[in-house]
Amino acid sequence: MHPLKDLYLHFPFCTGRCEYCAFVSGPPPLDPLAYIDTLLAEARQHNLTFAPLQTLYCGGGTPGLIGSAGFKALNASGLFTFAQGYEWTVELHPRTVTAELLETLATCGVTRLSIGVQSLDDEVLKFCNRRHTAQEALKAVQLARTFIPDTGIDLIAGLPGVDDTLWQETLARCIDLDLPHLSIYALSIDEGSMWEKRGISPPDAESVCDAIAMASARLAEVGLQRYETSNYAREGYRCQHNLNTWHGGNYAGLGRGAASRIGRMRRAGDGTEEPLNELDDALERALTQLRLDEGFCVAACIERFPCLAPYAKAWATILADFHQHGLLTATYAPTTRGYEILDALERALLECVYTE
Ligand code: SF4
Repeated sequence: MHPLKDLYLHFPFCTGRCEYCAFVSGPPPLDPLAYIDTLLAEARQHNLTFAPLQTLYCGGGTPGLIGSAGFKALNASGLFTFAQGYEWTVELHPRTVTAELLETLATCGVTRLSIGVQSLDDEVLKFCNRRHTAQEALKAVQLARTFIPDTGIDLIAGLPGVDDTLWQETLARCIDLDLPHLSIYALSIDEGSMWEKRGISPPDAESVCDAIAMASARLAEVGLQRYETSNYAREGYRCQHNLNTWHGGNYAGLGRGAASRIGRMRRAGDGTEEPLNELDDALERALTQLRLDEGFCVAACIERFPCLAPYAKAWATILADFHQHGLLTATYAPTTRGYEILDALERALLECVYTE
């Protein structure tokens, strides 16, 4: 096993609970430094050693809640070093964005920020219990970019109260920010979330697909290319950490709620471990490639995962069929309509394997 080069750190803290979310998270840590010690202990417990990292991703929850002191301690902890050209992303909630924190992050060597904006309508934000206004989010993005230019945002498509007109306006305001990266996720209402308990359901799939197709077209016009199901970037600004995952690479996760994929071992966020057999491991690593605009090459896939060779002919037939129906491009990347039925494509490819 080569030493790991991609690390995800989970910061399971939030100042409140967004109504659609039931992620693992709790109140901000009383002692952020103690949480860094917990991450170090977890790395020791699993005997994890890292090569100089290509990518580090601090996600949440709300990583900003460990504050400047927490990030300084993390950077000085000795847990990782960086390779040339590394990427270090930190997710930020607009309310945690301060000049002091941004200066610390820039000084520590953070290269990339992702700010959870989700909506630019105050009523919608309030209904979601996001705990920030649209104005605060916009100010946070503008301030963040003065310290770390590679700052992107997350939006949610399909939030209650967002009609086509409001969605168009939201996109226009985001485009005006001239960002290098945007993520747009279809609303999902977690089991156990407030909205699930209150019986609020997501809008019908068709209108969410329409909202995403509208976004994809508008963003493409201004040079933000859809490079994955939910992600759009200018040339040179794709998230390398997530690309490693979609390319089927290994990664380690530390922190309550962080998953790992190391060789055949899968460790879930709750710490349970499961070894996969060669075939399941290969399928998992191969099929996430379908989400990317890079296309899917059966021959390259078989070269990398020889155990998938028996399915090459059937896969080629299925992919050609999806291409003929306008769901995949000539290089077998999803078209806009193709993105809407990716699950069906994956199921069709898996059926060839498991119904043999
Ligand atoms: S969506 Fe993010 S910020 Fe909101 S409660 Fe969930 S983890 Fe916290």
